Amino acid sequence: MQLAVDLHSHSGYAGGVGQIELKTVSRTMKLKGIDVFGTGDCLFPPRTEELKKELSEVAEGLFSLPSDSSKFLLQTEVILSTKLAHKKNKTIAHHLIFFPDFDSICKMQKLMKKWGMKNTIGRPFITSGSQRELEDQLFEMQNVDPLIEIIPAHIMTPDGIFGSKNNLDKLIEFYGNFLPNIRCIETGLSADPQMLATIPDLAELTFISNSDCHSAALNRIGREFTILNVEKTDYPFIINSLRENQVIMTAEFNPAEGRYFLTGHRGNRNNHSKAVIFRHNVPSDLICPECGKKMFLGVQQRCRQLQDKNCKIVPRKFMHLIPLVEVIAVAQNLKSINSNKVRKIFDEIMNVFPSEIVLWQSDSIHVMLDKRIDEKTINHILAVQCGSFKFDPPGHDGIYGKLQVGVY
Ligand SMILES: [Zn+2]
Ligand SMILES: [Zn+2]
Repeated sequence: MQLAVDLHSHSGYAGGVGQIELKTVSRTMKLKGIDVFGTGDCLFPPRTEELKKELSEVAEGLFSLPSDSSKFLLQTEVILSTKLAHKKNKTIAHHLIFFPDFDSICKMQKLMKKWGMKNTIGRPFITSGSQRELEDQLFEMQNVDPLIEIIPAHIMTPDGIFGSKNNLDKLIEFYGNFLPNIRCIETGLSADPQMLATIPDLAELTFISNSDCHSAALNRIGREFTILNVEKTDYPFIINSLRENQVIMTAEFNPAEGRYFLTGHRGNRNNHSKAVIFRHNVPSDLICPECGKKMFLGVQQRCRQLQDKNCKIVPRKFMHLIPLVEVIAVAQNLKSINSNKVRKIFDEIMNVFPSEIVLWQSDSIHVMLDKRIDEKTINHILAVQCGSFKFDPPGHDGIYGKLQVGVY
């Protein structure tokens, strides 16, 4: 059975957007076609209480609002920070943690207290003074419940395990003896399975893709997602499917859209008259020719450092996707996805297709939408479906790439 999952999100407690109501999330999930969604921030006590109050368990380890079909999985992101003996700076890497029940969350909160960690933000820090201490923490977390899953998040971004800030060559440098418990990685918005395919350390792992969204908007939830093969829709079967690499496909950002794709500096930095972007020939010292400050190494170049052409390649099915509302806005020459016109066309399409995922998988888009919406929007949707779009300029220095549809 196919299950569409998006297992990385944040609540209002992670900062940025204010509170996000679960019923709004559920409504967007249905329009997008997401079956199971990660709650975000489930370790933060006020959030834990909120989730406990609003949700009830409807299948083992999955939760829903009263009389609602959308399912939630208890999920948080944490920042693991440690001091590796062979690295000058601290190594900091974002991780996803999935929990099978509220009881294991409570035990994990007690562990954090025992370690003296502050648990005062949606995405908490778990710090340690050495690799050995980190390894002990990871084993203690896993021992809370064998069904807890710990997954390195957006692995190639500057805050990811393989990101340019950390500059690790091998996962074992960080995880040590815990490494066999790492069975999955999250590709992140700036990388796709093709870019990661020839990195030897990742060859045996499951790749998943999630939105990492901080909002319930139609261009945020499910902007990246994973379709899993599961025997049954419950938490143990989802975890089993992840551990056994039963991924049918992932839907990914085009990496050039991701905010850290290329090395560069955005145009509005101090002492900049224009943006600086390196598509090739990145300066080896990473010094920006405009302002003289150091640039982050882009994800594309960072992947190249880790790739090995002789690596065994595991085939992985994926597609590049753009949220439908963004495609409509571009087709209508509108800057905002929030315009009434965009919403009207979106609703019209949703009268024909049960969800966005069904639309993208359909081979009869033209027939189904003909005369219902304008020809230009249909052509834009078809162009995106067959991959005829690009991002120019590509993402860099925290800025998303700019979408151009119908061009190669
Ligand atoms: Zn993160
Ligand atoms: Zn600069």
